[in-house]
Amino acid sequence: MATRPKTKKIVEPSASAARETQTKFKHPWRIVPLQTAPRLGAAITPQLTYRNGPLLTNVEAFTVFWGKAWQDATNSAVAKQMNEFFDFILTSKLMDQLVEYSVDGKTIGHGTRTGSLTMTSSEPGSKVQDSAIQKMLQSAIAAGTLPAKSANALYFVFLPPGTQVEQGGSASCTDFCGYHDATRDNIFYATMPYPNCSGCEGGLSTLDALTSTSSHELCEAITDPVPGQGWYDDANGEIGDICAWKTKRLNGYTVQLEWSNAAEACV
Ligand SMILES: [Zn+2]
Repeated sequence: MATRPKTKKIVEPSASAARETQTKFKHPWRIVPLQTAPRLGAAITPQLTYRNGPLLTNVEAFTVFWGKAWQDATNSAVAKQMNEFFDFILTSKLMDQLVEYSVDGKTIGHGTRTGSLTMTSSEPGSKVQDSAIQKMLQSAIAAGTLPAKSANALYFVFLPPGTQVEQGGSASCTDFCGYHDATRDNIFYATMPYPNCSGCEGGLSTLDALTSTSSHELCEAITDPVPGQGWYDDANGEIGDICAWKTKRLNGYTVQLEWSNAAEACV
């Protein structure tokens, strides 16, 4: 059964809101918290409810590696491995386990990777605002450099080593390790800062940290592409948030566990 849409407006968390959230050992929806952040012991079993918004039923993921640094041998090898990861994960059991979040007229199935771009026409710099990432996507889509947005299109923006992203008064490696969101004109995207800090490596290799965080954001973008308007739990956030930094191996890849309403567990 679908619940009534929330009247609460979903806004970017302010700096004070982010601090407030942190002291409560929670983190705003959209983000992967630092591996070192304390976890909230759930007092009640999480139960996500559907808020009548869009779902990415057959996700069309496009990877964007932003900046010339991705042309370096080491970084381009990581980019290639991430594309291979997406090719695998989008048709994997991880997608099959999301089928329980299908609703009438919206059946969640496998996805595809529609392509990849190493974007060298502009640079993110050492600090990039979320608003600049949104603008980059909007103008690259308008210019035809990136595929057109669609009901299933999801752009994964990977930032090079040394770039910190700020969103809603919080910053990567200080407060979070990744997030997904939607622009006002419904471009669905995820931002993946390079995990070159202990809080975002979580004791994993760079590749494992990136696949773990990417799987978290992928599953959340599919089930809650407009944060708070898809599958959401007011106390615990999205399906990846509840299981942050709990991982398993799939075909040699490290992926994050996701909350299952049906199993009442991270699976
Ligand atoms: Zn999350």
